[in-house]
Amino acid sequence: MAGIKILKNKIPFIITLVCCVTVAALAASVRAGQSMKTAEASAQAREKQVVVLDAGHGGLDSGCVGVNGTYEKDVNLDIVKDLGAMLTFAGYEVVYTRTDDVSIHDDGVEGIRNQKISDMENRLNIVQKYPDCVFISVHQNRFTDPAYFGGQMFYTTNNSANFRLARIMQGLFSELQPGNDREVKLIDNGLYLFKNTEQPALLIECGFLSNPNDAANLSTPDYRRKVAFTIYTGLARFFGEEVKNKENTEIGETESFLYMQ
Ligand SMILES: [Zn+2]
Repeated sequence: MAGIKILKNKIPFIITLVCCVTVAALAASVRAGQSMKTAEASAQAREKQVVVLDAGHGGLDSGCVGVNGTYEKDVNLDIVKDLGAMLTFAGYEVVYTRTDDVSIHDDGVEGIRNQKISDMENRLNIVQKYPDCVFISVHQNRFTDPAYFGGQMFYTTNNSANFRLARIMQGLFSELQPGNDREVKLIDNGLYLFKNTEQPALLIECGFLSNPNDAANLSTPDYRRKVAFTIYTGLARFFGEEVKNKENTEIGETESFLYMQ
């Protein structure tokens, strides 16, 4: 459940990413005139950062269903797996709440409602095992009016970094989705996972499956990978700023260069 899996169909992408990372790291190092020793030290520092990735829904709970029949649970999982592969290769420790099409409720729990409660409790338990993690939950939206489109970030005030993370991510989604002028939004009290999470956390609604264009895009592996890379970039920028705030500027420069590839 919490293991890291790399699927066979991700291999070409991973090879490309490895090349990008290598080229970016070398180029950034040369440009900045920094030694490889410094780069290694930064990589080691980043290895300690845990990111918990949550693909919303799963199993009997399909989430919302797109106008083209796409299940939200499948879109969420695919994006999370791509994102997890990117973060892993960049040196982060990635923990997943699920890596398959399942609900993670306890064995023996009967009834869909009870299974859903147990599933949410177990997702929260995973997050709480990592007090220094950043928690990212990936979902897709739905609305009665099919004209609504584009990603939107939802945050709580439980952690002072949440608003900044949400703003960074919203800006990058606006670049991915021209015309998306959505604002980050405060989560009301109803979401169990977020109400009880004190670590930096973000709920990402990547798009509207009720919108034909979003639904078509989110049904393709290429676009899902672009969404994953957008989230990866937002996290890299967020962590880069955190490091810069302390003393070191190298990671932010490296990640900015990576994003340009
Ligand atoms: Zn959802």
